Amino acid sequence: MIIPKESKLTKEQLKEVTDIANEYSCKIQTIEGHHRTIYALLGEEREPIMINRILGLDYIDRFDAIDSPYKLMDIHSELANHKIVIGGHIVGESPFIIGGQCTIDPDNPNYFIETAHAMKEAGAKALRGGVWKPRTMPYAFQGDDSSIKVLVEAREQTGLPIDTEVMDEYQLDIALEAEVDVLQIGTRNALNYSLLKKIGEKTANSNMAVLLKRTRAMGPVNELIAASEYIVAGGNPNVMLCPRGTIPQMEGYRNNPDESITPLLKEKTWAPVVVDPSHSVGRAKYVPGAALAAIAYGADGLIIESHIDPKYGIGDDPKQAVTPEVLTQLIKDATTIWNIARGEKVMG
Ligand code: PEP
Ligand code: MN
Repeated sequence: MIIPKESKLTKEQLKEVTDIANEYSCKIQTIEGHHRTIYALLGEEREPIMINRILGLDYIDRFDAIDSPYKLMDIHSELANHKIVIGGHIVGESPFIIGGQCTIDPDNPNYFIETAHAMKEAGAKALRGGVWKPRTMPYAFQGDDSSIKVLVEAREQTGLPIDTEVMDEYQLDIALEAEVDVLQIGTRNALNYSLLKKIGEKTANSNMAVLLKRTRAMGPVNELIAASEYIVAGGNPNVMLCPRGTIPQMEGYRNNPDESITPLLKEKTWAPVVVDPSHSVGRAKYVPGAALAAIAYGADGLIIESHIDPKYGIGDDPKQAVTPEVLTQLIKDATTIWNIARGEKVMG
C-alpha cells in the first residue's frame, strides 16, 4: 500500500509510480476514500528494490506491506478508517437497517410501492427489492427486468436508497444504469471471483456500495473476507459483509444461523457487517430474535425481508417476511441493544 504525502498523487506522479511497479510485474490500484486516496500494489509487493525506488520518490510518505492474505480488507490496512455512506447515513454510526420485499412482483407493483413507504415509516434506512432471483427450481419465477423500474420509482417516492441482487454482467449493467445504491451479491455467487472482480472494476470510484453475502457452504471467515478483497482490489472499497446462514444442520431453521461470526469478522476487517436473519432462520416468527442477536454480537446493520401483506408476496415473502409493524418494533429494540452492546447510554 502506497500512501502519498498529499491527499492524492498527480497524474504525472501516478504514472511514475505505475511505471516502477510495472517493471516488477505489479499493478497499481487507485482507491479513492473520502479524505485521501491510497494506492494498492497488486502483485509481489515485497521486492526490496522496487520498494526502495518508490520510497525514494519525494512525494511518497509511506509504503506499508501488509502481512495478510487480504491486504485491503485487513483491519490494519490504510482503509481502516474508510466509511461507507449510503443515502446520507454512515454505516456503523447507528443500526443500518435495510428492509423490503424478497421479490418485486412485476404484475402487482403497488405492493412494492406500499411496502417501500411502510419501510420508511418503520425507520429503515434503505429498501431492498429483488428484481432477479436465484431460484433453486428452474421453473420458479426468476424475476423480471421490468421490476427495476418499480424499484427506482419506490426510491423516487420515498427517498430511500435501494438494494438489489445481481447474478451476472447483464443484470449488473441494468443495475448500474439505474444507479442502484447497493448491489447485493447473493450466497450462490459469493465465490464467483470473475463477477466480484467485474463489480469492483465497474463500480470503481463511485459511491455504490456492495453487500456481499457469505456462501452457504459454511465458508471460513477468511474466505468471506478474501472474496470481498476482489471487489476492493477492483477499485471499490464500499463493501459490507453479510452472514446469512449456512447449510442447515437442524430441523426448523431454513439455514444454520451464523450471526455469531460477526465479532470474528470485525476482529479481522474494518468492513461493516450487515446480517441477514431472514434467510438464516427462514421463518418470520424467528426473525426478530435472530436480528437482535446479530446486533448484540456487534453487527452494524441488518437486511430484513418485510412485506406490507406477506401472504400476497412472491418468492420468500409469504414465509419469511415480517410485517412493517414487526419491523418497527424490531428497529426500536435493535437501537436499544445497539446502545447496550456498544456501552452507550440508552435514550428514553
Ligand atoms: C435474497 O436476499 O432474497 C436472497 C436470495 O439471498 P441469498 O443469496 O442469501 O439466498
Ligand atoms: Mn429472499
